[in-house]
This record gives sequence, structure tokens and C-alpha cells, in this order.
Amino acid sequence: MSDIAERLAALRGRISAACRESGRDDSEVELLAVSKTFPAEAVREAYDAGQRAFGESRQQEAAPKIEVLPPDIRWHFIGGLQRNKVRKVVAGFGCIHSVDSLRLAEYLDRVAGDEGKRPQIYLEVNVAGEESKGGFSSDELLSAAESLHEFRHIELLGLMAIPPEAGARGCFARTRELRDLLEARSGLRLPGLSMGMSGDFEEAVKEGSTIVRVGSALFGNRSYPA
Ligand SMILES: *Cc1c(COP(=O)(O)O)cnc(C)c1O
Repeated sequence: MSDIAERLAALRGRISAACRESGRDDSEVELLAVSKTFPAEAVREAYDAGQRAFGESRQQEAAPKIEVLPPDIRWHFIGGLQRNKVRKVVAGFGCIHSVDSLRLAEYLDRVAGDEGKRPQIYLEVNVAGEESKGGFSSDELLSAAESLHEFRHIELLGLMAIPPEAGARGCFARTRELRDLLEARSGLRLPGLSMGMSGDFEEAVKEGSTIVRVGSALFGNRSYPA
């Protein structure tokens, strides 16, 4: 087995163990392999080991990989999304985790309609109220509850969080609670919780994550930031 195949198997084992410990079924948690900064060959190795969902944070970096890799890969966009990239992101990615404002969601809905697409999306929340990070505050999100009914061309799956390292588990729990409140207030079903990275995905699973975004624990350390 290649290093990547071995690490993939180990990660799947750790996700299963975290599921068992929290009384959840394995099938409830998806592994998103975050391939940003890594070449298409690395993605290919993970693909050959059975992985199909990959996450990228920059459209320009992802485009040439998407082009050369098999079409049955599901690409997830996880980075900051600027309006001028929305059309290309809608064309290349089936799922977008980083929708951090109602305006962006509305624009995505419009562009997806134009392009005949229906991407899945997560709304990014900032439950710790960190100044340096984007995302909906809890209040903003709850006041937007009614507007979430208006989307026609995006499928709203749930919430995404990138918590601070210290206190991650509490943030995961608050993200889940916020999701529950938003479901109650909006009447929408929002099953998805995109939470957990290499350093904290087990905690995220124990707090209800349905998709963990793991990069360095699978592909190795990144040589430049992304
Ligand atoms: C880079 C990145 C990840 C993966 O981080 P690792 O610590 O390498 O697992 C997950 N989510 C987002 C939004 C990222 O930008």
C-alpha cells in the first residue's frame, strides 16, 4: 500500500472508532480529503484507494486537478469564496462549505440557476465570535431563518465551522445546537454538520459532525499555507 492508502485506512479506522464511542453508525460520517496544495498525483493515490470526495480552497489551484482527474470525483469547495469566482466554482464543485453571508448565498442561488446546476451548500458559522474569521454570527443566522426558504437552485445541507484550536469541542457542540435552533425556527431540515480537521476530527464526530475535512493527516504537512 502507498503511504496515502495506509493513512486513509488509518483515518477511516479512527472515524469508525469515534463513531462507536459516541453510539453513531459509521455511515453517518463522511471523510472529505482536503487536497489543497497537493498535486493531482496525490489525489490519484487516494482515489485509487477508494476515496471520492476531495476538498480544495482555491478555484485556480483546483481547476487543473479537476481537469485531469476522473469525473466521478466529487469536488468540495472549502475556501473563502469571492463573487468573481462564483461562476467557476459552481461549474467545478458539487458542494460548497464556505458560504459566509446571506448575500453570497443569494448570489450563488442566482448563478446556479443560470448555469443549470444545484450545488449543495453549508453556511459557515463563527460561533466563537472570532474577529479574524468570517462566517455568520449566531444572531445573524437565526435572523436569516426565513430567507433560507427562498433558495431554488442551491441545496442547503447545514452548517460548517472552523473553530479556534483552544475550545474546539465546545464550538462543535454550539454549532450543533445552533443548527437545532435554526431547524426549529425555519422548519427546514438541516442534517449536515461540516466540522473537524486533522487535529480535532474525533471530537467533532462525537459532537455530531457529518463530514470531517482532513488534509495534513492524510497527505502530510503542507509546504506552503493555503
Ligand atoms: C485546510 C483546511 C482543512 C484541512 O486542514 P488539516 O488541518 O490539514 O486537516 C479543513 N478545512 C478547511 C476550511 C481548510 O481550509
